[in-house]
Amino acid sequence: MLNNKKFRDPALIKKIVDDLNNWKKPIKIMEVCGSHTMAIGHWGIRKLLPPSIQLISGPGCPVCVTPSSLIDELIKLKGVTIATFGDLIRVPGKEETLEQARAKGLDIKLIYSPLEALKLAEKKQVVFVGIGFETTIPGIAQTIFLAAKQKQFNFSVFPAFKLVPPALDALLSTEDIELDGFLLPGHVSVIIGSESYDLLPEKFGIGGVVTGFEPLDILRAVKLLTNQISKDNPQIINEYNRVVDSSGNKIAKQIIEEILQVEDALWRGIGWIPDSGMGIKEKYAEFDAAKKYNITLKDEEGNTGCRCADVLKGKIIPPECPLFEKVCTPAHPIGPCMVSSEGSCAAYYKYER
Ligand code: SF4
Ligand code: SF4
Repeated sequence: MLNNKKFRDPALIKKIVDDLNNWKKPIKIMEVCGSHTMAIGHWGIRKLLPPSIQLISGPGCPVCVTPSSLIDELIKLKGVTIATFGDLIRVPGKEETLEQARAKGLDIKLIYSPLEALKLAEKKQVVFVGIGFETTIPGIAQTIFLAAKQKQFNFSVFPAFKLVPPALDALLSTEDIELDGFLLPGHVSVIIGSESYDLLPEKFGIGGVVTGFEPLDILRAVKLLTNQISKDNPQIINEYNRVVDSSGNKIAKQIIEEILQVEDALWRGIGWIPDSGMGIKEKYAEFDAAKKYNITLKDEEGNTGCRCADVLKGKIIPPECPLFEKVCTPAHPIGPCMVSSEGSCAAYYKYER
């Protein structure tokens, strides 16, 4: 077991913070991962940094980027049990959430693992909602593999997977945002490896640091980014090498390769991003809920005044949304960024008010 204490050493934290407080040039660093957003809030890191170093959140929470049309399509399903991870049921669709639809009789089962959904399929038709980034994808792919082996045709997955590097590529290619560096996700990188982000310095001249979730991880990563910014030497550095390597997890990649293929994906607030998601291969089509129930997603979000789209693109921080705290709270979320436990608005509400 890892000894977390050494990543929370107050003397070392003070040394890096003192050093960073000498930084004068205004820079913007985007954290891509929802858990980094929570960790930054939890450890009070933003308050330790000088005003010249701004940390902003990006599209790093799989629940937040789930389009409302997916919720709408799930609500239309009849005669099946929808199995999903918890946060999704409070995400607004155009008219209502899955939770509200459940109160009217929609059959929804909250689960912690896709294997639970496969077990449920022994008794009834089950659609598992496949949301998640590269971290979650291998476990779901493995479950489809098991379902095929067991010939469990009651089980299907709606593939709404998302891939991080193409999203960053699209963000930097199409959006008018000035960024100086990235804190890159720890868990995702365990699967895909740190070399997956090489496009950032090569194509956009922006560096990034793959890092963990302890205060020293995050502060060291910020320090490494300031070093490369001051030398104008953008590169990808793996600060989280106690769990991440450059090429990722070979076995996880193999199971993904067997079951899934890269496809375009719809991101809430961002739209369709080429090659930024994964669909189920023809060989496993019987387990593809999109085909089985003829589900297609549309790029149309309801008009609630929610600024999640701008939060996800790093254009505003949550308190800049007029609804933040006044109308939109974790108890009454208007948008997904306030619903998800890893959402930026939820993190700001919890730690930064
Ligand atoms: S799954 Fe892991 S890497 Fe992805 S957003 Fe959550 S914590 Fe970050
Ligand atoms: S505070 Fe609420 S309404 Fe505003 S962007 Fe966040 S989730 Fe959307």
